[in-house]
Amino acid sequence: MAKKQFKTESKKLLDMMVNSIYTHKEIFLRELISNASDAIDKLYFRSLTDDSITLLQSDYEIRITVDKDARLLTISDNGCGMGKDELENNLGTIAKSGSFDFKNNPENANGEHIDIIGQFGVGFYSAFMVADKIVVDSRAYGADVAYRWQSSGADGYTIAECSKENAGTVITLHIKEDTEDEKYSDYLEQYTLKSLVKKYSDYIRYPIRMMTEQSRLKEGSESEYETVTQDETLNSMVPIWKRASGKVEDEEYTRFYQEKFFDFEAPLRVIKQKAEGTSNFEALMFIPARAPFDFYSKDYEKGLQLYSSGVLIMDRCKDLLPDYFSFVKGLVDSSDLSLNISREMLQQDRQLRIIAKAIEKKITNELSKMLENDREKYEQFFAVFGSQLKWGMYADYGKSKDALKDLVLFKSSADEKYITLKEYVARMKDGQDAIYYASGESTSRIALIPQVESVVAHGYEVLYLTEDIDEFALQMLSSYDEKSFVNVCNETLDLSNEEEKESLRKENESAADMFAFIKESLGDAVSRVQFTNTLQEHAVCLSNEGALSVGMEKVLSRMPGAEAGMLKAEIVLEINVNHPIAQKLKALFADDKEKLAVYSKILLAQARLINGITIDNPAEISDLVCNLMI
Ligand code: ADP
Repeated sequence: MAKKQFKTESKKLLDMMVNSIYTHKEIFLRELISNASDAIDKLYFRSLTDDSITLLQSDYEIRITVDKDARLLTISDNGCGMGKDELENNLGTIAKSGSFDFKNNPENANGEHIDIIGQFGVGFYSAFMVADKIVVDSRAYGADVAYRWQSSGADGYTIAECSKENAGTVITLHIKEDTEDEKYSDYLEQYTLKSLVKKYSDYIRYPIRMMTEQSRLKEGSESEYETVTQDETLNSMVPIWKRASGKVEDEEYTRFYQEKFFDFEAPLRVIKQKAEGTSNFEALMFIPARAPFDFYSKDYEKGLQLYSSGVLIMDRCKDLLPDYFSFVKGLVDSSDLSLNISREMLQQDRQLRIIAKAIEKKITNELSKMLENDREKYEQFFAVFGSQLKWGMYADYGKSKDALKDLVLFKSSADEKYITLKEYVARMKDGQDAIYYASGESTSRIALIPQVESVVAHGYEVLYLTEDIDEFALQMLSSYDEKSFVNVCNETLDLSNEEEKESLRKENESAADMFAFIKESLGDAVSRVQFTNTLQEHAVCLSNEGALSVGMEKVLSRMPGAEAGMLKAEIVLEINVNHPIAQKLKALFADDKEKLAVYSKILLAQARLINGITIDNPAEISDLVCNLMI
């Protein structure tokens, strides 16, 4: 029979498996068992709506058999089975499961990559780590013919008809000969197989059975032993989320999470929830330690797995999680949901909405606890997923802002550490009635904004907002603990005393004509020009009038569909009244208006640069400066 070749990617993966240096070869068993369990799930699921399938839940099983002399290990199931095309497509090609984008890096066959394979599980192929030949006999449920797929690795595979009495799949592994480094014979030992099932597949919901040998005292004898064989179920079949939480080791949760949700790292936090009463459900959720690779892409889908009394009914139920908790992974198992409920019906399901509410509350509480009791971990979490929470404060017209406001952190002028709003308010200066903030690209750039320097010099703390969403979130919140949020770059900010205020007012009044001239020469770039007395050393700065700040304008103008100039911050050019430039400008206004117009342009450019905003006309400005120099 002519051998068929594996597809290119499959062949590469296969080579890696065959020559694997991966130390956890044992995971092959877990992979084959979970495939068997999936196959039974599929048939069971079908049987709910197809009366011709007469199997009862108790008829299903996964069976392990061993022939030590022939070095054969088989894993069989009576699930849905595969037809010829399915054998071809499923086993001839590497699984396309999104978890493992093998194509990205097929050459990268170093140790690290192998480890990724172990963690993700590439399923069926992993069996080539321990077997030099694999035979798969399978019969699809309802089909008359069965087929045999076999392969000795990279040189290809064959498919031919075979006989098989019942539907399902039997996978026979020809276990490799032992080498100096690897004792493959272990996988033919009853003890090893039993403990591997316990370790990796205990919660599989169908019995995993094996004939095992046990020695016991011969009947009627006190010293003579005999060996008996018995059919033993190796797994406890209780899903991990149904087990009493004190009885589950952290490591088991970690392993469960990594396998199910394809992460190499342990979760940052495990959240367990059990509700009884108006709503009955168990939830097992995880906060990942890092963002999944596609988290910030539009392909990422939030959601929790949904089980109805232990049977998976939906892989990603979106309605269970609000968008701002989209990073949470996990599952919910409820006895209140019917098994063959459709997706559309689920959306309207009252029970589901109650569960979603309870889950949202639980996650919020867990995050608060983490913030309180494990600050370091919380900050680690926040660095990765914090912007989600801030989006949550802003989204839906601020519907969830109160639930989230104590969970958000900001950096500040105090010491560049994260602080909560509560902490900010707690250490406000006597007489301070507002929460100051400034926004910019980075904390170091914000620190250099003239108004920030000035507010800090007055002894106030300033929140440093570096993310697009920050200022929108704070505006949505509008105040915290009755203290309103004030952008230090807003022109209304005035930290001077009455006397200073009065003198500034006079200065401004007497220079009104000059300001009108400057404004005229700058066109639309500014809405007003005035003196300020808050600057320390700088000659000029920009502030803004109204609710829309320069930072917000920047964010909004980047949004798809935004038209240029549609939303414009009202910018005020402020000139330091105590700086020699103030006198110089006055003199020019009297003697040389042309030069004043040039100076005005340069000052505006300087102010923009100081405030961290780019200038639109760099060539013109540099020519103007150059002309002054020569
Ligand atoms: P994955 O399980 O990640 O999809 P695998 O390589 O383990 O990848 O399996 C590929 C496919 O082969 C499975 O998706 C399934 O359709 C099919 N398959 C594997 N084992 C069995 C089995 N025991 N019974 C039925 N189908 C199976």
